[in-house]
Amino acid sequence: MITVRVPAKVNVQLGVGGLRADGFHDLANVFFAVALGDEVTASDSSEGITLSCSGPDAGVVPLDDSNLAARAARLLAAHHGIADPGVHLHIAKAIPVAGGMAGGSADGAAALVACDALWKLDTPFETLLELAAELGSDVPFALLGGVALGRGRGEILEPLAAEGTFHWVFAVADGGLSTPAVFRECDRLRDEAGTGSADSDVPTPDADPALLAALADGDAVALAAALTNDLQTAALSLRPALAATLRAGTEAGALGALVSGSGPTCAFLAKDADGAAAVAAALRASGTCRTAHATYGPVPGAAVA
Ligand code: ATP
Repeated sequence: MITVRVPAKVNVQLGVGGLRADGFHDLANVFFAVALGDEVTASDSSEGITLSCSGPDAGVVPLDDSNLAARAARLLAAHHGIADPGVHLHIAKAIPVAGGMAGGSADGAAALVACDALWKLDTPFETLLELAAELGSDVPFALLGGVALGRGRGEILEPLAAEGTFHWVFAVADGGLSTPAVFRECDRLRDEAGTGSADSDVPTPDADPALLAALADGDAVALAAALTNDLQTAALSLRPALAATLRAGTEAGALGALVSGSGPTCAFLAKDADGAAAVAAALRASGTCRTAHATYGPVPGAAVA
């Protein structure tokens, strides 16, 4: 039996370019791995690839072939020519589902590492990264962890320097948001504003030098000032109640606040661990979210526990 721990991500910068002909957007995506994460346990099975899930959101996690953990196990087996793979994967789910924290991608990365160890395959890390990119744009980062700049659809990764530990709070909403729906709303709002939404209309996004310097310096105040998410307006348009969540965390003393990825989870940067605990308590008491978790990062990517 092999248990793998895997982090969730928050995008400290999410720059969204225009809509490309292939239906994707060019991104300048600064991923940051946080300790709030899932655990995936792989054990031997003679019944093919089977799944179970525990945790507060377990009821909305698909346990069929569409689950990214099952798809990862199947992809790894196919890569090694294993015709009849057998594994039971149990997902202990702490990452909010459809929350903009790449929880499904995290489980896919964790399943790659867990099955690789269970089946004693010793797959090179570079190969695992390639398989991860086949599974989805956010999966390679869940393998890598730390802080990284993602380009293209987010899957071309460059590790970034980050000093020390940053303290975060995540406010979990009731219900999720569909990532494709949030991108569509972003395009719609750009068209409505008259700026256009095609890749010829929108400048190619790039990493913000002030944000990179704040990460490298371990400067939480500077990082808070540089947080940006080009999907935030679209997430707020689809879920206006998130404005009250962002306000509640800021009023409770957070240095900075933003919607995490495509939302609806909201992320707050705090001064230190005590500050994060205070912001989380205030958010839970505010009635503007289902719950709030204090956590920290950066942390490593998917690894055997
Ligand atoms: P991202 O930030 O990468 O866009 P997200 O965090 O918003 O993703 P996920 O939690 O990854 O969203 O879930 C999106 C959808 O993926 C879910 O609604 C679910 O149907 C599907 N899914 C597939 N595998 C999983 C998994 N292991 N855990 C959760 N959802 C999964």
